[in-house]
Amino acid sequence: MHAKSKVNADSTELAKFERNAHRWWDTQGEFKPLHDINPLRLDYIDRRARLKGKQVLDVGCGGGILAEGMTRKGARVTGIDLGDAALTAARSHATESGLAIEYRNIPVEELAAAQPGSFDVVTCMEMLEHVPDPATAIFACTRVAKPGGHVFFSTINRSPKSFLFAILGAEYVLDMLPKGTHEYARFIRPAELARWARDARLDLVHIAGMSYNFITRSYKLTGDVTVNYLAHAVKG
Ligand code: SAH
Repeated sequence: MHAKSKVNADSTELAKFERNAHRWWDTQGEFKPLHDINPLRLDYIDRRARLKGKQVLDVGCGGGILAEGMTRKGARVTGIDLGDAALTAARSHATESGLAIEYRNIPVEELAAAQPGSFDVVTCMEMLEHVPDPATAIFACTRVAKPGGHVFFSTINRSPKSFLFAILGAEYVLDMLPKGTHEYARFIRPAELARWARDARLDLVHIAGMSYNFITRSYKLTGDVTVNYLAHAVKG
């Protein structure tokens, strides 16, 4: 097992998710926004990487919302996270749903060192903004992908609008997320993500905004990357 001291993870951040782990599959609960954006990101990934028959690694998989969606699209998915309660919720939900998904508690850096170049597609959604050293996590996501493989990230931009919408709006006004879910300073600008990707020899080929419409209470893909955004990269 991994030496905890070297792991690129923040126990305070992990604890925020572990506390609510029994609610991973409550579509009206703390993780509602992840359920709401799931069809959108699943479709984006499938259109760009053709999931059917692919070996996929979902990094920071939580309760398996995206991992299950990708499995239903025909991918063979492994989900990794450092939250045991999340993994327990993910495993039992997959069993209930009759889906074969492998879930493991292992840091992406460790898996990448043990099995470099082994996945066609790597997804890492809504995790980088909770990790102490996102550049190292991006490097590991790249390392574990096959040459020519697809790597997808989603995170939150650091902008006045994201402070207003992702923190004040979502946590304090609309009560969509538990207070303290996100820390503004950890948000990641697209230019930072692009630099870290470049350093990892990853070509960032597309970025799309995911905007929340407060009237219809639904998400759509837009060109506005000032709050939530998705990025598609290819390993050279
Ligand atoms: N990717 C999932 C869950 C996002 S919530 C989705 O989009 O549906 C963030 C998840 O990241 C939590 O499950 C949390 O346990 C996990 N996480 C946070 N830091 C991590 C780290 N350093 N390594 C692996 N998982 C981490």
